[in-house]
Amino acid sequence: MQIRRVLPQILLTASLLFAAPKQRVLKPGWNLFKPAQDVQMGQEYAKEIETQYQVVTDPVLHAYVNKIGARLVAGIDGEKFPFTFKVVNDPSINAFALPGGPMYVNTGLIAAADSEAQIAGVLGHEMGHVMLRHGTNQASKANLIQIPAMIAGGIFEQQGGMIGSLAQLGIGLGANSALMKFSRTAENDADLFGARLVHKAGYNPVELARFFEKLEAENGRSSKMQEFFASHPNPGNRIKNIQDDMKFYPRASYESAALTPELVKAREIIKKLPPPPKKAAPAQVQAPQGPAVSTSVPNGFKMHQTSLYALGYPGDWNARPAQDGVSASLTAADGVVKGANGAEDIGHGILISFVKPSSTDINAATEELLRGIVQGNPNLKVSGNAQTAQVDGYPAKLTPLQGPSSLRSGEKENVLILTVMHSKGMFYGVFIAPESRWRVAQPEYQQIMQTLRFSR
Ligand code: ZN
Repeated sequence: MQIRRVLPQILLTASLLFAAPKQRVLKPGWNLFKPAQDVQMGQEYAKEIETQYQVVTDPVLHAYVNKIGARLVAGIDGEKFPFTFKVVNDPSINAFALPGGPMYVNTGLIAAADSEAQIAGVLGHEMGHVMLRHGTNQASKANLIQIPAMIAGGIFEQQGGMIGSLAQLGIGLGANSALMKFSRTAENDADLFGARLVHKAGYNPVELARFFEKLEAENGRSSKMQEFFASHPNPGNRIKNIQDDMKFYPRASYESAALTPELVKAREIIKKLPPPPKKAAPAQVQAPQGPAVSTSVPNGFKMHQTSLYALGYPGDWNARPAQDGVSASLTAADGVVKGANGAEDIGHGILISFVKPSSTDINAATEELLRGIVQGNPNLKVSGNAQTAQVDGYPAKLTPLQGPSSLRSGEKENVLILTVMHSKGMFYGVFIAPESRWRVAQPEYQQIMQTLRFSR
């Protein structure tokens, strides 16, 4: 009796031992959206993207990227999304795809690629995210309750209605949004999908991994890459994972991964492009006529009031309101450092302003603001995930950053950026303190945020 029971187990183990390795099956995960809704969503976002970025109209460059794109599209089996390929005048090394097919490649990425195979590799990887529907899969999982209600309510069917309602769920094009920030598994699958596509198109799939690893190596040295790796985390062992997958590919001879005349020409065109228009910083909101907003503050706090907002701050701090009647700095007694050029730098305190962003979506507007802040302070880096919140009934976000402290040399400073979307514009507060004071400063900053009230 016992032998009978044991035998099948042994057989099973043996068959596991000798089973040939199987190629990873790539298919879209669970999704609340229909594929047609991926397409609608992508088209709505594409309109938004193209008002924010300059699409390059140079016909040679456009044709070059579309030729590579068409070679890849030809290799997709079965039904495919309607892919479009556009070049964006932006020196940072990035490429991105929207759900349902719109693809964008920055001029910076084309200039940084060593071969056409590398550009094809990045495009193939991005097409993997689209075909495997990673964005809408993640958005579905993060919003199990709300999305079915929106679909049932027919909200998405209205013209332009999709991204507006998704914005209410905190879903947008920001680097931290479920639509754009991928998991390591999704990254690996996009690599394999891309590798299979470029293989079919006659490019060497290893170039895909090589380019990613080259960018990764340079990531620490240049801020040009941060955006890319914020949304495409390294799944680890890229080259090995792709080489393992390549064992299943039919034998092929790939075209040489060298600098072709066409890529040289593309780089020359990029060099001659005018610099992209500097995105104007969002306009400052002026104080409207009206009574000052009021709030209640804890004991020992003073109140800072404007006609747009009010908040409390520690009684021994200094408040310096700006001319516009809205911006202000609130600083600890020893919180301001005078720089060599006489400029003042806040080391412990709060900077407040109210701006008119180009989008009323809290995520897009916060991203825009952060881009500006990080550009002006290259040492400052986003140090964690942003949190969604509500302040006085308005949608808000809290983003942590870190940089060197101006108050304590050799020490880090923590920075929290609170953004609140109001009907008159976006409020933002930059809450700064050196790391060594953070234990005291953080609860104080929470208290201050709780006193924040806005005009109705
Ligand atoms: Zn990716």
